[in-house]
Amino acid sequence: MPLDPVLADQILKAVDDNFADQIELTKALVRFPSRRGEENAVQDFVFRQMKSRGWAMDRFDMDEEAIKRHPGGSPFAPEHSKAPIVVGIHRPKQETGRSLIMQGHIDVVPEGPTAMWTSPPFEPRIDGDWFYGRGAGDMKAGHASMFAVFDALRRIGLQPAATVTVQSVVEEESTGNGALQCHLRGYKGEAAIIPEPSGETLTRANVGVVWFKVDVAGLPVHVREAGNGQNAIEAAYGIIRKLRELEAFWNTKTSEYPLFANTPHPINLNIGKIKGGDWASSVPAWCSFDCRIALFPGEKPEAMMRAIEETVAKATREDRFLANNPPRITWNGFTTEGYVLEPGSEAEAVLGRAHLRSTGAPLTETVLPAYLDGRVYALFDKIPTLNYGPYCELAHGFDERFSIASLKRSTGTMALFVAEWCGVEPI
Ligand SMILES: [Zn+2]
Repeated sequence: MPLDPVLADQILKAVDDNFADQIELTKALVRFPSRRGEENAVQDFVFRQMKSRGWAMDRFDMDEEAIKRHPGGSPFAPEHSKAPIVVGIHRPKQETGRSLIMQGHIDVVPEGPTAMWTSPPFEPRIDGDWFYGRGAGDMKAGHASMFAVFDALRRIGLQPAATVTVQSVVEEESTGNGALQCHLRGYKGEAAIIPEPSGETLTRANVGVVWFKVDVAGLPVHVREAGNGQNAIEAAYGIIRKLRELEAFWNTKTSEYPLFANTPHPINLNIGKIKGGDWASSVPAWCSFDCRIALFPGEKPEAMMRAIEETVAKATREDRFLANNPPRITWNGFTTEGYVLEPGSEAEAVLGRAHLRSTGAPLTETVLPAYLDGRVYALFDKIPTLNYGPYCELAHGFDERFSIASLKRSTGTMALFVAEWCGVEPI
């Protein structure tokens, strides 16, 4: 049943009244440089934030063996985060509404050379409508907005009338294992909402992602007799050229995935890191490079992994040295599927009404050629999974920023969504 319009307006006003506090909480999150493996301190902070709201608390590590056994698990590299996952559970007095999972990731990608930033990446800065900082948009603004929903309702003496499980995860930027661990821990909901920065649109579909590292061997000789050696760096270039052909092949198939028909180049290969060689006058004996490639929803990561192996094998077959010293491929991160949000769910209808009231415009949808934790709930819990959050620019780039006005609107949407989906009861 749609929310009573008077109540809806009270909730939006409460979001507005609470907004200065919400921005302060967002700043506090951004000040933690929570790069991969460095999320312990911020997770402690999140734990205290949740506990202070009276939620039942759970803090746990990843179960590597259980993750490995699960079809949605990604491999553990040495860099895999050991930070805990923090879950807070709101339980109502009377369970009258529908339960909900809310999730945010707290990990951020490296900031890169700080000299390229206008101001220090982990010192939040506001300029007009823009809030700057590494991870500010992706996704600490959304993360803090989960708390803001409860705080706004509390201001008018209300709380959700259903169990809401609020999950703060790590490893979203590298494996997706944090979200999977919440699933393995047994948390359930009748819907999930994840406030990633979607520009106030509903994410209809996203891609799967595979990470891999290729180690290429060479034969070191003095450069004056380079003809007798084998240059590992140049060999790596050859392999990368072949991987580009694999990427091009998959993009030619875009028309077979109608949801992505308007996305110009949905399958992107990124050569994200490269290292090699030891000395300017020695033919390099080694080169290693790290890659990320996407796959259309419905495609299995295992199939892409086999295609990568074949592509690398093809690139090396013609070369006598490489044929005898084949490059080694290591799966060192994501091996995940994409997902499609099935249209027509009640949860989507509730979000649509909430969005219309909060923003004044109908809810639109987008597809995202990137990984999303929502895949866990869509694929393995098979519940409506709503990826919806504020407008952000330059995620993973320099001067990452989100729109403050957009955050207020998307928080309003989320508060109205929770109020209608879960119902509300007096505190
Ligand atoms: Zn994100």
